[in-house]
Order: sequence, then C-alpha cells, then structure tokens
Amino acid sequence: MASEKIASLLERNKGFNVALAPPFVADISKRLHTPGGPGGTVIISCSDPRVIPEQYFDFGRGVAAVIRNAGGRTSDALRSLAALDALGNTDTVIIVHHTDCGMTHMPDAGVRKMLKERAPQLSKEIDRMKFGEITDVDESIRQDIALLRASPLISKTVTIVGFNLDILTGQLTEVK
Ligand SMILES: [Zn+2]
Repeated sequence: MASEKIASLLERNKGFNVALAPPFVADISKRLHTPGGPGGTVIISCSDPRVIPEQYFDFGRGVAAVIRNAGGRTSDALRSLAALDALGNTDTVIIVHHTDCGMTHMPDAGVRKMLKERAPQLSKEIDRMKFGEITDVDESIRQDIALLRASPLISKTVTIVGFNLDILTGQLTEVK
C-alpha cells in the first residue's frame, strides 16, 4: 500500500542527523561567485536508484549539485542547469550515463504507447514528445555533451565532460 511506503520513509526521516545540517544557499552562492575562486560543479545523472553520484564519486554534501532524471539526459536538465548556474556560477558539468540503464530497455515508442492509452486525447502531442531512449550509452553521452556545447544558454567557459558508469564495477570511463 502506498501509504505504508510513505509511512516507512517518514519513519526513516526521523533519524536525520541535524549535525549534517548544511550552510545557507546565500553563503554558498557568494563563495561560488567569488572572483578567482572555483565555481560550482553540476552532475547530471540517471534517476536509477542503483546509480547515486554521492556514492560513485564518494562525496557528501556541498561538493556538487546533482540533477537526476531518466537516463541522465541533458535535454531534460536545461531548466535546472540554468537556475543552478545563476545561483552557483557553474564552471563544470559532469554527465554520467550507465550500463544496463532503464532507458536502453524502454524505447520512446513504449512510453508513447502507455501514454496514448492513458490520454488518447493527447495523441498528437505525445507523438511529438521525446523521452530520452538510449540505444548506445557512449553515443547518448556524446549527444548530450554536444547538446550542451551547442546551447547558447550554456556558457562557453564551462567544462563539460561525460562518463559511462559500469554498474557492476562502479568504474567511470570518460567518453569523448
Ligand atoms: Zn539509467
């Protein structure tokens, strides 16, 4: 039952360690905008519960902002990237896609089929929508790097790198 899931999560939340309370965003933003200092780092990674940036990069709070969506696709991340850049002066974007990604198992056609059954009145709109299917992980990383590099909304001074995460070994391989 969904309510049992939520109750379980709320129970876990009670154990939050207040000693881990973070600094305020105004202070973080000021530090990242300090001339001569490093700007912010943003990691774009998959929603998959098996691939957690804080685990595969072994960091806690305060090192990088994380955007997660199905597949870790940059097209989906642009709104968040813009807001995070204004707040945190982004100088580095790290894109991570991974082996055995759900988006390699669920083509856009499958998502469209489900949505059309649910909302047949929106069939035309659904036909135009893209859901980020991945047929080749290295290629999807190259596409997503290229999308950000081509976007006038992303500063040309931002370092953009892409990695393929092997979920069995936890190792990252850079994709150029
Ligand atoms: Zn995935």
